[in-house]
Amino acid sequence: MVKVINNPLDQYIADLFAPEDEVLRWIQSEADRNDLPPISILPDEGRMLQLLIKAIGARSIVEIGVLGGYSGVWMARALPADGKFYALEKLSKHAQMARNSFERAGLGWCLTMIEGDALDSLQRLTEQGLGPFDFVFIDADKVNYTRYLTWAGDNLRTGGMMAAHNALRGGRIMAPDTVEDRAMAEFNRALAADARFDSTILAVGDGMAVGIRK
Ligand code: SAH
Ligand code: MG
Repeated sequence: MVKVINNPLDQYIADLFAPEDEVLRWIQSEADRNDLPPISILPDEGRMLQLLIKAIGARSIVEIGVLGGYSGVWMARALPADGKFYALEKLSKHAQMARNSFERAGLGWCLTMIEGDALDSLQRLTEQGLGPFDFVFIDADKVNYTRYLTWAGDNLRTGGMMAAHNALRGGRIMAPDTVEDRAMAEFNRALAADARFDSTILAVGDGMAVGIRK
């Protein structure tokens, strides 16, 4: 199945600013071949994440929910030569494919893959004293987004950034329909009320909630 971009505005932005190279196209076809769900970010969202990472001069990134590594490769490409990418993924099938994607992209040098439930992995990251971190991208189970936000508030440096995917839930965020929709609405409210962050939602793709750690 070829990934279709439903929103013509996303297509317009992607065509101009976010053309996929051979590696990104390979990741999507390989994900498809391995029956991974077609739920990665879009090219224009990947480009936006790169710009945000560069804008704050991020040298370390924590991704919660990696799938086949598509968003990870977009983001890791914005890191400097001594950058670090911590990839948190529950399913070993996904983690293995993401490792392959980073290798294929020539990005194996920055990758630390941490398999298991993200809440456990985040606690380990804190305990290992690897933080504070510069950039946290949340894109895993929606019901835990608010917990991931709490961790980001505790573990981002001042001026660091949190970005959370699917903030608009295909438009359903204003009339939540599922447990996940409701969890996302709760997350957006929590972020808006969180005094530790300056925040908003960037309405590109499926909506990127972003917050700068004060
Ligand atoms: N960021 C990816 C898409 C992630 S899809 C991209 O844009 O390319 C969501 C991923 O989160 C899936 O791979 C799923 O296995 C993982 N996930 C779901 N719940 C999780 C949890 N509790 N801990 C870690 N990973 C989880
Ligand atoms: Mg997502």
